[in-house]
Amino acid sequence: MGKVYVIGHKHPDTDSIVAAIAYAHFKGVIDQDDDYIPARAGELNPETKFVLDKYNIPVPELLEDASGKKIILVDHNEMGQVVKGTSEAVILEIVDHHRLGDIQTSAPILFHAEPVGSTSTIIADFYFYHKVPLTKEMASILLAAILSDTVILKSPTTSEKDRVMADKLNEIVGVDLKEFGMEVKSAKSSIKGMTANEVIMKDFKELKKGSTTYGIGQIEVVHYDEAVARCGELMKELNNIKEAHGYKLAILMVTNIIEEATRLWFAGDAEIIKKALGKEPVDGEAYLPGVMSRKSQVVPKIQDVL
Ligand code: MG
Ligand code: MG
Ligand code: MG
Repeated sequence: MGKVYVIGHKHPDTDSIVAAIAYAHFKGVIDQDDDYIPARAGELNPETKFVLDKYNIPVPELLEDASGKKIILVDHNEMGQVVKGTSEAVILEIVDHHRLGDIQTSAPILFHAEPVGSTSTIIADFYFYHKVPLTKEMASILLAAILSDTVILKSPTTSEKDRVMADKLNEIVGVDLKEFGMEVKSAKSSIKGMTANEVIMKDFKELKKGSTTYGIGQIEVVHYDEAVARCGELMKELNNIKEAHGYKLAILMVTNIIEEATRLWFAGDAEIIKKALGKEPVDGEAYLPGVMSRKSQVVPKIQDVL
């Protein structure tokens, strides 16, 4: 009986952890000869912790080095994302939903890739197709992972198959999909216990045009309440950051993934924000309906104006 580790990418998200757990279980059912062990390539994020906790699912073991081990990769197929030691491991299979990467193997393998919104969608399909029984707990974490990776079936990567699998799983789970999705997503988006600086710096990019520098942080929320309650404190910290780094602007995008809109808070020249985003800011805030992406919807417009 050989040990086979099923593992997702580094900096694991909910999809990569759940896919490892569910696929290891699935393989264990259909292949009694080998021992399939769910593994992880790093620490769990708060969202994934919440999902596993809620259904009493054990956290997969941390695999620090895959050298000499038999492994199955889920939710990734690029060398930049693999656990250490993968080039000295025996890769048996890959199940993924990303672009084709750069992994090479010495022997033929099973490679299953589909252009869908989550790896958990593919694995749910395996269960249904092969009629492997799904417990309510397993169905629940698969559903949570699909809703997480597809931003509650709203991201542009969402496919028809994601919706079909979410509905089929929900026949077992029986929740309101949007409510359950918000519950899952809010576990990661909470700013409780973080300092204003930590909130702004959680996902912060420093940008440049010529000799002008500016910075934009972004948080994703499912409702504005928590951030709005700390608006004064966050504005003050934006000002501190702007002064400390000599930025032209210090910005925090509070992006509501349910409403698909952003409340953009800033310290600096309001004229730049007005010209770039076509909105008259009020008290350091510009409200931007339909704006979700810093990279494609905000940065290019600011670059143009600077
Ligand atoms: Mg992933
Ligand atoms: Mg994924
Ligand atoms: Mg993902």
